[in-house]
Amino acid sequence: MPSIFTLISLSLLMLCSPLAGAFPKQSLVPGGIALIDLKRIDKTPNFSFKGKPVLTVLYQGTPMAIVGLPLNLNPGKHFIQGSWGKEKSLQKIFFTIVDKQYTTQRIEIKDKRKVNPYANDMDRILAEKKRKQKARLVFTPMMVNVDLLQPVEGIMTGSYGRRRIFNGQKKRPHSGMDIAADLGTPVLAPAAGKVIELGDFFFSGNIVYIDHGQGLITLFAHLSKTHVKLGQSIKKGEIIGEVGATGRVTGPHLHWSLGLNGTWVDPELFLN
Ligand SMILES: [Zn+2]
Repeated sequence: MPSIFTLISLSLLMLCSPLAGAFPKQSLVPGGIALIDLKRIDKTPNFSFKGKPVLTVLYQGTPMAIVGLPLNLNPGKHFIQGSWGKEKSLQKIFFTIVDKQYTTQRIEIKDKRKVNPYANDMDRILAEKKRKQKARLVFTPMMVNVDLLQPVEGIMTGSYGRRRIFNGQKKRPHSGMDIAADLGTPVLAPAAGKVIELGDFFFSGNIVYIDHGQGLITLFAHLSKTHVKLGQSIKKGEIIGEVGATGRVTGPHLHWSLGLNGTWVDPELFLN
């Protein structure tokens, strides 16, 4: 089987052409992404961040690692670690992240059960949590196109990372981007991939997870309808569902999360 890098190298000419798509923006903050020039092109890079393999693509003829930075990452010096091909020596590449203050948002949810679930909701919530965690950690070695399409036309509020207080109670920070749009607005796949999880979840409502390869995972939540099946391969721009108001919401919107090396980062960094 050809290595990821061989596959990537084969597409070098395509990626270097003037038609090559947009590239994500670096943001060296918790919740952002680090773009690291790996420089060597002669061997397959195998790098990881905190034990999770990282996405590597060729950009303008250079192998680049695109590293997801967790929201709870401490500011300061960090590194990716890895080796080249079958070489045994490990290399560390350092980068520095700075702090970012995310704003706080107070949200009133009418369905109080979605903020304080009943005791008999907990089995369901825990089972769904496991499924979500598994989907977030999928890593499929394959060539990846990081030029993403905005999944829905609508109002983006820059809501990633907000610290949220639901009905007066502090909850986890917002791990995705909310795009306000009318009920039933089509939701498009931002890139080609495969459906690895879907269902009606307690907090997230109707969800779809797409694996785009090498740990690049997208999640779409609160959908009114889904148009895909588990295991289905989908093309970039294909309709995967419709905007809805299912799960813990105040109104119709798309919740879009984007994962890299097992962590949710700000999807806006992938949009032009
Ligand atoms: Zn959201």
